[in-house]
Amino acid sequence: MPSPQQPCAPLKINLQWDNSFAALGEAFFVPWNPTPLRSPYWVGRSASAAQAAGLTLDWLESPEMLNALTGNCAIEGSHMLASVYSGHQFGVWAGQLGDGRAILLGETAGQEIQLKGAGKTPFSRMGDGRAVLRSSIREFLCSEAMHGLHIPTSRALCVTGSDDSVQRETLETAAVLTRMAPSFIRFGHFEHFCQHDQHSELRALADYVIERFYPQCRTAAIPGATRPTDRVYAAFLREVTARTASMVAQWQAVGFCHGVMNTDNMSILGLTIDYGPFQFLDQYDPGHICNHSDHQGRYAFQRQPQVAYWNLYCLGQALMPLIESQELAIAALETFKTDFDAALDNCMAAKLGFGAVHKGQRELVNTLLELLHADRVDYTIFWRRLSQWIKTREIEPTTFDATVRDLFIDTRGIDQWLLQYSEHTKLIPRGLSADLMLASNPKFVLRNHLGELAIRAAKSKDFSLLAQLLQVLERPFDEHPDFEDFAAFPPDWAGGIEISCSS
Ligand code: AMP
Ligand code: MG
Repeated sequence: MPSPQQPCAPLKINLQWDNSFAALGEAFFVPWNPTPLRSPYWVGRSASAAQAAGLTLDWLESPEMLNALTGNCAIEGSHMLASVYSGHQFGVWAGQLGDGRAILLGETAGQEIQLKGAGKTPFSRMGDGRAVLRSSIREFLCSEAMHGLHIPTSRALCVTGSDDSVQRETLETAAVLTRMAPSFIRFGHFEHFCQHDQHSELRALADYVIERFYPQCRTAAIPGATRPTDRVYAAFLREVTARTASMVAQWQAVGFCHGVMNTDNMSILGLTIDYGPFQFLDQYDPGHICNHSDHQGRYAFQRQPQVAYWNLYCLGQALMPLIESQELAIAALETFKTDFDAALDNCMAAKLGFGAVHKGQRELVNTLLELLHADRVDYTIFWRRLSQWIKTREIEPTTFDATVRDLFIDTRGIDQWLLQYSEHTKLIPRGLSADLMLASNPKFVLRNHLGELAIRAAKSKDFSLLAQLLQVLERPFDEHPDFEDFAAFPPDWAGGIEISCSS
C-alpha cells in the first residue's frame, strides 16, 4: 500500500524539528503520510499545550495549520512515520499492533507530535485508521484535565473535525486529535523486538530511551550486578517501575479509571496515554468497570495497581535479553509495591491535609473508603466538601460539618470517622492544612456526562461548551464560580453512558 499523497505544498513554519525517533532506523517504523479529510474545521484548541510545543497562538488559528493538523499537508522539516509495536491485550499476547491510526510528525521543543485518526497505516489491520469526534473530544479534554491535575500524561494540542463520515455502529463524524508527549514509546515496543529476537534493535531502543529520559541509569548502583550492562538495564527497569507506580497511585487517589491497561497502552515514561473508555469515578465503587467491553472486569478501578505490576512483568520479560540476570530483573520489579504504597500514602496525606504521611493514616483512609463505598458517596464532591469544611473551620472553629455529613446515609459512621480524623490531626507535627487539601482535592474532574454534553453540542458544531470545560479543567483546583454546574452531582442519565473500545 503506497503512502498517500499530500494535496497541498508543505507548510513552512518556524519550528525546530528533531526527528530522533526517525533516526533509530527503519526497523522501528514505516515512513508514512496521513490521508486527507475534506473541509476540516477546528473543534478544540489548547493554548497552553501549543505554548509547550513552541507554537504561537496565531499559528493555531491559521487555515494552513488547520490543514496540516488534519493531515492534509505536511509541515516542512517533519518526518512522518508510523511505528511498530506489539503487546498483551486483556492478558493475552496480541502479536504485532503498531500505530494503526496515529502518525508521528516528529519532535519539536522536546515534544513528539502525533496525529491520531489521520488515516490507515501499514499497522491498521482491520481498522480504518480513523478516530471519531466523540472519542477525540474525550481524549482532548482528559489529556488537558490530567495535566491540570498534575498527573503525568500526554497532552492534546487540538481536535479538528471533518464532514467526512466514519462507520462505527452508526455513521459518525471523523476527527483528528493532535497529541504530544516527550515520547510515545510503549512497553509494547520492547515486547515487539524481544518477541522477534531482534536483540540489537531491542538494545538500540533501550539505549535511546535511557539516553534521552533516564541518563541516571548509566551510573546507577545496583546491588548484585556484575556486568555493567546488567546494571544499566536493571536500573532502567527499576526507574520505569517507579514512574509507573507513581502514576497509578495518582490515578487511584483522584479516582481515575483508565479502562484499557494493555501493555501497548503503557508509556515507557510513566505517562497516562491512549485515552479510550476512561472514567473519573462519580460514586465511590472500587469494583467500578468503566470499559463496557471489559466483561471480566480485568481493568476495574481497584485492579489498576495489580495490572500495572503485571504489565511491568511483561516489560521485564522483554528486557531479559539485555539484563540476563533474572534475579536483578525481579529485584527491580519487586520495588513496585513499596513505590506504589509510598506514592499512594503521599497522595492520601495531601488529600487529608496532612503535611507528612502519618502513622495510622492507612487505617483512617481504609475506614473512610469503606464508608464512601457503603453509601455510594460521590468521590470528588466528598473530598472537596471535606476540604471546604476544614477551611471554614480554620476561620470559624465552631462550624458544623453538615455539608460532609449530608453525603452519607450512615451519619453515625461518618461522625465517628470525623472524630478519628480530628484526633489524628492533633498528632501530626505540621498539623492540618486546608490550603493543601484545596490544592490536592480538585473541584472539577472530567465526569462522563460533562464530556457527553460537550460531544452532543460539538456534533451540532457548537464548540462553546468544550471550550468552557477546557478552561475549567485546566485549573481544576480553582473555584470558577461561574461554572458551578460542572462541579455538581452527575444527573441520573450519567449512569447509562456506555463507553467501549470502539472509537
Ligand atoms: P487502543 O487500545 O485503542 O489503543 O488500540 C489498539 C490497537 O488498535 C493500536 O495498535 C491501534 O493503533 C489500533 N487501532 C485502534 N483503532 C483503530 C482504527 N480505527 N484503525 C486502525 N487501527 C486502530
Ligand atoms: Mg493504544
